[in-house]
Amino acid sequence: MTEGQDTIFGKIIRREIPAQIVYESETVLAFRDISPQAPVHILVIPKKPICSVASLKPEHAGLIGEIVLAAAEIARREGLAEGGYRLVTNIGHDGGQTVPHLHFHLLGGRHMGWPPG
Ligand code: 5GP
Repeated sequence: MTEGQDTIFGKIIRREIPAQIVYESETVLAFRDISPQAPVHILVIPKKPICSVASLKPEHAGLIGEIVLAAAEIARREGLAEGGYRLVTNIGHDGGQTVPHLHFHLLGGRHMGWPPG
């Protein structure tokens, strides 16, 4: 997968296409998934065009911390903290990744099975 801002998520970051944005900081954006797989399904992404976890560099360590902390804050706001939720990122073809811009799925509001299919 190629690195670059020219994905559907890049267009959302640049406000070229609409999205239901639920959180924004200088470095992180979160919005509702267009095809929700749970009552709450939010994508938490860096504004930087990083392809996936596989392309992370040591200098991204702080950014990943910001993304995970943002996800936990959003989960609290969405009322998921007590019941629990899932935070997952798909990597590459076998991981099920379809958009080559790093994103964490925040899923909640129902029980999650394991292992995933
Ligand atoms: P992946 O399969 O790469 O882990 O997840 C990509 C996610 O992006 C999918 O859950 C898909 O529904 C979501 N998605 C794809 N295009 C759009 C879009 O234009 N807007 C929003 N909000 N979500 C999208």
